[in-house]
Amino acid sequence: MTQLTGTGVVAGVAYAPARWAAARPEIKASAFAPVPEANRAAELERFEAAVAAVEQGYLERAQRVAEPDTKKVLEATAGLVKDRGLMRMARKEIAAGTAAEGAMIDSIDSFIQTMQKLGGLMAERATDLRDIRDRVVGVLMDLPEFGIPESDTPIVLLTTDLSPADAAMLDPATVQALVLSEGGPTSHTSIVARQRGIPCVVAVPGLATISEDEVVLVDGGRGTVSTEADPSSVERLIAEDRTRRDAVRTWQGPGRTADGYQVALLANVQSVATAQEAAQTQAEGVGLFRTELAFSETATEPSVTDQAKLYAGVFAAFPEGKVVVRTLDAGSDKPVPFVLHEKEDNPSLGVRGIRLQSLKPEGMLDRQLDAIAQGRKDSGAEGRAWVMAPMIATVDEAREFAAKVRSRGMIPGIMVEVPAVCVLADEFIAEVEFMSVGTNDLTQYTMAADRLSPSLVSLNDPWQPAVLRMLSLAATACTKTRKTIGVCGEAASDPLLGCVLVGLGISYLSMADKAIPGVGSMLGSVTLAQCQAAAQAALAATDPQGARHAAESILRGDRD
Ligand code: PEP
Ligand code: MG
Repeated sequence: MTQLTGTGVVAGVAYAPARWAAARPEIKASAFAPVPEANRAAELERFEAAVAAVEQGYLERAQRVAEPDTKKVLEATAGLVKDRGLMRMARKEIAAGTAAEGAMIDSIDSFIQTMQKLGGLMAERATDLRDIRDRVVGVLMDLPEFGIPESDTPIVLLTTDLSPADAAMLDPATVQALVLSEGGPTSHTSIVARQRGIPCVVAVPGLATISEDEVVLVDGGRGTVSTEADPSSVERLIAEDRTRRDAVRTWQGPGRTADGYQVALLANVQSVATAQEAAQTQAEGVGLFRTELAFSETATEPSVTDQAKLYAGVFAAFPEGKVVVRTLDAGSDKPVPFVLHEKEDNPSLGVRGIRLQSLKPEGMLDRQLDAIAQGRKDSGAEGRAWVMAPMIATVDEAREFAAKVRSRGMIPGIMVEVPAVCVLADEFIAEVEFMSVGTNDLTQYTMAADRLSPSLVSLNDPWQPAVLRMLSLAATACTKTRKTIGVCGEAASDPLLGCVLVGLGISYLSMADKAIPGVGSMLGSVTLAQCQAAAQAALAATDPQGARHAAESILRGDRD
């Protein structure tokens, strides 16, 4: 048996013949002869028609898919096709005599270079831009459409990375698993795979060694792809996976271990609509309301009254449950138009989170806290509001924030995202009532690895023992003082890691609501003592694979 290992994004086992996605055209701009002046107007028309056809194609796909998030991804890509800067660049080249194909290739490539320099989320949009480029060139050259191969029987789909347009067309009935040699857990393809429940592994080195129709075993939970797997282990893994899927489907909640230890399973939300959706699931409350995402398209700071309406809507979605509101974390990859940032070379290490207080408009934090307090009152929800600050790095910041929150009758907490908080956890917890670990940032800052970089996926892994040890410093400080500590980063949505976190002393886990049944059913299958033993084993490991394997042996019993 040969085994390749990547990053598991969606749990689940599949065993089927591998099929590679049909290759996209590989054409260089220099392959096209210059266009004589007399024909340039017609060339421009040919270009405009191809661009319009591709835009229309994305919109039609958007109409055919049901999931709102996938629809949004396709509509956003359709919007990018006619990006003004891009069109200006291409038209200029055509006017100067470049063929439409060449103009499209040149313009997109230079656009991608600019975006990659900007880094972060922008760089991840490169896949979308390449897709636009190849589709427009395909239409111009009258080539057959590339993408997912047609099949009536189950397949494992292999590809370098999938465009959002193709990802949207994934059918779980035939595509049993998706394996990418590139891509990251935050790429569009991963988002779509998660929504469709298609087992998925990304960033798999050596994937090209697998040939068309070779039968492969994919384990999305462990992030492995194997050929020539032993039939008896295939059978066992598939049976285990079937049992797991059944347990997830029928899980009812609330969150607790097999021996009854309660762990609240909460939802991450970003608007009234997402909070209301979460309230229809097994979510017991909201563990993270990312307020900056509610304002991602808001040009001027909303008044206290308008903000209060928004917060009241979120509180009202869970009138009896816990709702944790996080104050603005604008900046880096989450720009908010009304927050006036200076240009920064390293925005993820820059003015974001609690540091926004130094920016204009002045007094944003006070107005937001007033609005949260008002919203809580207006919602008629029971009890006090839980409010936390992002990107806290010093004890003074925590103390000042806590005073502002307490003076408005709310419960103050801090996010644990900066390693400094873990190192001085005892001093920090003395100032506030609770902590919530943002494992996305805690991992990027502990490992010094941009969380959005597709090349640093293996460093950006919350199973890194250094991250787990950081987190355990904070957990120990909270449990010693009987204060609450939750996790609201992506790590909380990994069923196995969720159990490890509980074993470290974490009392609530907050995640995308769709992930709750997976975490809840795993938690319900183990005891608190198993979680604690798994946590100790993971802490003792020296690499993420070792940590995961050690925890898995204790939580699920030994597997190969
Ligand atoms: C985190 O850092 O883990 C977190 C939850 O905050 P965000 O992802 O919004 O930065
Ligand atoms: Mg964060």
